[in-house]
Amino acid sequence: MTAYRMLIDGEPAAATGGAELPAVDPYSGAEIGRFPDAGPEDVNAAVAAARRAFRAVWADVPGVERARLMHRLADLLDEHADELGLLECRDNGKLLRETTGQVRFAARNYRFFAGYADKLYGRTIPLDSPDTLDYTLAEPLGVAALVTAWNSPMQLLANKLAPALAAGNCVVIKPSEHASLTTLRLGELATAAGFPPGVVNVVTGGPRTGAALAGHPDLDRISFTGSVSTGRAIAEAAARTLVPVTLELGGKSPNIVFDDADLDRAVAGAIAGIFAAGGQTCIAGSRLLVQRGVYQRMVDLVADRANRIRLGDPTRPETQMGPVANRPQYDRIRAMIDDGVRGGARRVAGQPDSVPEQGLFVPATVFADVDNGSALAREEIFGPVLSIIPFTDAADAVEIANDSEYGLASGVWTNDLTTAHRVAKGLVAGTVWVNTYRAAAAQAPFGGTRRSGYGRERGEEALREYLRTKNVMIDLSGRTPDPFAIRT
Ligand code: NAD
Repeated sequence: MTAYRMLIDGEPAAATGGAELPAVDPYSGAEIGRFPDAGPEDVNAAVAAARRAFRAVWADVPGVERARLMHRLADLLDEHADELGLLECRDNGKLLRETTGQVRFAARNYRFFAGYADKLYGRTIPLDSPDTLDYTLAEPLGVAALVTAWNSPMQLLANKLAPALAAGNCVVIKPSEHASLTTLRLGELATAAGFPPGVVNVVTGGPRTGAALAGHPDLDRISFTGSVSTGRAIAEAAARTLVPVTLELGGKSPNIVFDDADLDRAVAGAIAGIFAAGGQTCIAGSRLLVQRGVYQRMVDLVADRANRIRLGDPTRPETQMGPVANRPQYDRIRAMIDDGVRGGARRVAGQPDSVPEQGLFVPATVFADVDNGSALAREEIFGPVLSIIPFTDAADAVEIANDSEYGLASGVWTNDLTTAHRVAKGLVAGTVWVNTYRAAAAQAPFGGTRRSGYGRERGEEALREYLRTKNVMIDLSGRTPDPFAIRT
């Protein structure tokens, strides 16, 4: 049994008092490791280490050196992709090929942002007065707290850590108590890559640890990925300390299929949108809006495909859907399905007994003719449950799609250019995919609106979340001014 350690000030650390939490494999039910359950004193030590490192070392490290370290970390992630992929697969039950792919995608993110580290230019700004030189400096904020969810720890962390480091910040990371192991390994790899002590710190634990970090007064930014309720608690804590926050929260994303779409591709996109990762992604296309001309055909095709999804051991290549990551999540998904059935929803795929005996499995479940006002269509289930909703025309589709508290992602399936652009413009969402779904790129900004949160990750936009602009104004005239006159 491996006892994992946190990373504080460059040293492996147990929690003060030695408290630990178990890491449990949701497929086998076995305990696969133990990790520290940190208290406020550990969080304080990590934030203090980050602050010291920022002042004493990191602030003066040139961008080119930060980039070198980030490239080294990316190389180590690639070298350890199989190991990290397997560890994450065991920790949260996602398919091995997805977790391994996410480690490699994370490496790509570190490389992309490393490219910015020595290009953080300010601007020279011409003012009205020719005797004044004005320029800006793009400066790191200082210490950033990075709090992540359990569903994709390596990828979610890369979205935050890569721009934070490139911009010159020090960080304290807090992964989810449901999947902490790969983040703890990443801490070790950051040390191996040569990051100075205190630049990257990792603390582990549950909500108590997260709250101690989010409420810490000596932070310069909090970036959070997780549920709406926790996001709200963090924003409230940060309001007291006036620390700026980035929130990547949930979704109830519409995947919209028009009559003229290529149906084979649309079916594959609908299945990928909701059943890849067992629906445990913030971007899950959990509402499938289908135009009436192809409605019944889409329902039949999607239900048939869903019923044929192979559930099983997430480490095996033939498996298409693994177990749900943890018991509370499993109970919640099951309860929402039962409520839907009791409320009269028409289940067209996903018989409850069609799952393996071992593991926290929920079948790929599809409901047809769902009312967009019902709980099935409004609440984020974060599991393999799809609601299909009919629509008449593009205006109707956009209205139904936007009738949601969320605004994270969306998909449009059409071969008509005008429909694609019009609908993309009309959708209230941070991402619109056209004839694809779930595609991601280090260069493409990602984030939400409404209850899906605010701020952006990936792309150049992400860098700005970790920089502040300083304006420098220099009088070149050599004249002694009238102290009481306005100076322009
Ligand atoms: P969660 O909110 O329960 O936990 C997320 C993190 O917050 C964990 O590390 C947890 O320990 C910590 N935490 C809990 N209480 C806290 C508090 N009071 N203060 C500070 N930190 C606290 O979320 P989850 O169940 O781990 O993840 C599922 C949710 O994450 C879903 O709603 C999903 O949509 C969302 N998610 C969003 C994105 C995105 O990019 N938008 C990506 C993945 C997941």
